[in-house]
Amino acid sequence: MSNQSIGLSDNLYQYLLANSVREPAILTKLRQETAQHPLANMQISPEQGQLMGLLVHLIGAKKYLEVGVFTGYSALVVALNLPDDGRIIACDVSDEFTSIASKYWQEAGVDDKISLQIAPALETLDRLLANGEAGTVDIAFIDADKNNYVAYYDRCFQLVRQGGIILVDNVLWYGRVADPAMDEDKRTLAIKQLNQQIYHDDRVQISLIPIGDGLTIARKK
Ligand code: CA
Repeated sequence: MSNQSIGLSDNLYQYLLANSVREPAILTKLRQETAQHPLANMQISPEQGQLMGLLVHLIGAKKYLEVGVFTGYSALVVALNLPDDGRIIACDVSDEFTSIASKYWQEAGVDDKISLQIAPALETLDRLLANGEAGTVDIAFIDADKNNYVAYYDRCFQLVRQGGIILVDNVLWYGRVADPAMDEDKRTLAIKQLNQQIYHDDRVQISLIPIGDGLTIARKK
């Protein structure tokens, strides 16, 4: 499995990269280090990272919440696009992966923007809600364990402000969401459940983009 945009031929994908992706050197370096890792496909694609950086500017985001950090590419690309007073809350359970993330955040000089929370993300999200941070997040990105996707969406919806954006990653799940043979697969079912829920959620405007492994953009009305 690769993390390139789903459904594109190799030729067309290489064209897209060569003619649209402007990846800063620090992100290329992080992507190359992560590529050595057996779980490298958990990293977002560079074209998706660039889209996320663009979204920061489009909505004037200052506060970004990430559920699922892995080796830190998405948080880093967002951090590089946030204003100086921008802030990131990054949730993950892995010290191993996030130690790579922290190294690159420091090297890029953005680590002071990023608050890393090593704990089950639902605990962190519920604590943020208890602390009165509902309606304060500009962009939330959900890219963690799929079985909790519905719960993450519920918390992120509460935390995001009106006009803010919830991004949900892997919504096409390597094509498994449309594969009847995967109908009993728990993670596939969890993603399909959230896709259906968001489709019928009148509180948001949506677009499902076949970038990376499928990214839903949901804007809170
Ligand atoms: Ca992902």
